[in-house]
Amino acid sequence: MEANPLTVAQQQLDMAAEKLQLDPKIHAILREPTRVLEVSIPVKMDDGSLRVFKGYRAQHNDAIGPAKGGIRFHPDVTMDEVKALSMWMTFKCGVLCLPYGGGKGGVAVDPQTLSPAELERLSRGYMAAVAPIVGPERDIPAPDVGTNPQIMAWMMDEFSKVKGGVTYPGVVTGKPIIVGGSLGRSEATGRGCVIIIREAAKRLGIKLQGATAVIQGFGNVGSATALFLAKEGVKIIAIMEIDGGIYNPEGIDPLDLLEYRKKAGTINGYPGSRPIDNEELFSLECDLLVPAALENQITKENAGRVRAKLVAEAANGPTTPEADAILAERGITVTPDIMTNAGGVTVSYFEWVQNIMNYYWTEEEINSRLEQKMVAAFDSVYQMSQEYQVTLRMAAYMLSIARLAEAIKLRGWV
Ligand code: GLU
Repeated sequence: MEANPLTVAQQQLDMAAEKLQLDPKIHAILREPTRVLEVSIPVKMDDGSLRVFKGYRAQHNDAIGPAKGGIRFHPDVTMDEVKALSMWMTFKCGVLCLPYGGGKGGVAVDPQTLSPAELERLSRGYMAAVAPIVGPERDIPAPDVGTNPQIMAWMMDEFSKVKGGVTYPGVVTGKPIIVGGSLGRSEATGRGCVIIIREAAKRLGIKLQGATAVIQGFGNVGSATALFLAKEGVKIIAIMEIDGGIYNPEGIDPLDLLEYRKKAGTINGYPGSRPIDNEELFSLECDLLVPAALENQITKENAGRVRAKLVAEAANGPTTPEADAILAERGITVTPDIMTNAGGVTVSYFEWVQNIMNYYWTEEEINSRLEQKMVAAFDSVYQMSQEYQVTLRMAAYMLSIARLAEAIKLRGWV
């Protein structure tokens, strides 16, 4: 049976709480989001019919600052998934020392099936429905699976209209540049992943030049990660997408593959490659395995077959706790999602700061601030893992929860 992501997030929290001997009152607060909202969004379809979509927003904890996190448009979105993703956002912001708590939203929809006009009406409908609980000082959404900068622009516009016509650029991040987006945001998650991979590889003695990588997912995060890995001289031997995967032991050029997909509409049939399925993908011998798609991909069923030296979690929640234990036992290092993919929310934070200041940084400035924050996060997580002899995931949770616990105590919640 597929693991419920909320149960997974709670198990991860429980394990770290035990190790930290966390105050049970604080532990109880952190097991559930502070606030959740479920909405029904009626959307007029192009053919004159009406469809009502289910939408959600969860705000996990605001002890350190407003809630922050993306909005997912995907057919499998549920309240529990959104709650889990909001918890992971809290811990992610903690690892990066961002002044935020976690939030997440979602709509159960396959955005591919909507026309651009229907997508716009759904995006505006979602924002209008959650507007009472979001805002630059309360909760700041951003893109996630199935959403993009255009959707963020519509949502920012809708929020500004709902609030009486004042433009609020800081209500969402991941916007297009001209309406208050930040340079470097669109590739920030991939850039951050490769910074973490580089730091972890150094500690493991893996040379990136000539190393091999397998990537599951070729969306915003997977494709940017592939491009940055290729720049480091990594050979990408397999890539998986929703409609199939490709394998070429001689290496796949991600830039050329993007061009191919633009024309073909799929990565399938890419010259020089042969098809591959998920099962084979996860068991390929390689240096780096990068899950960059959805939750629950590395499970107790396939973890025993993974033959990578390093698993870098570009997706949120790709590894179940049982799989985590198997990988650890087999000596495979995992850089956890709440650190590895934090580059996105870090540059979202920079975007929000720039919106509030109304002063915009150069791309070099953004990238160098991102580099500093990611390296600092990796160093503290790595040091913690050495000191307590725990996995990087456990160390990341411990660091983040210790900060949160301090804030919760100082605010007098327990
Ligand atoms: N959806 C992204 C994540 O899971 C980005 C969130 C943000 O930028 O706020 O980290």
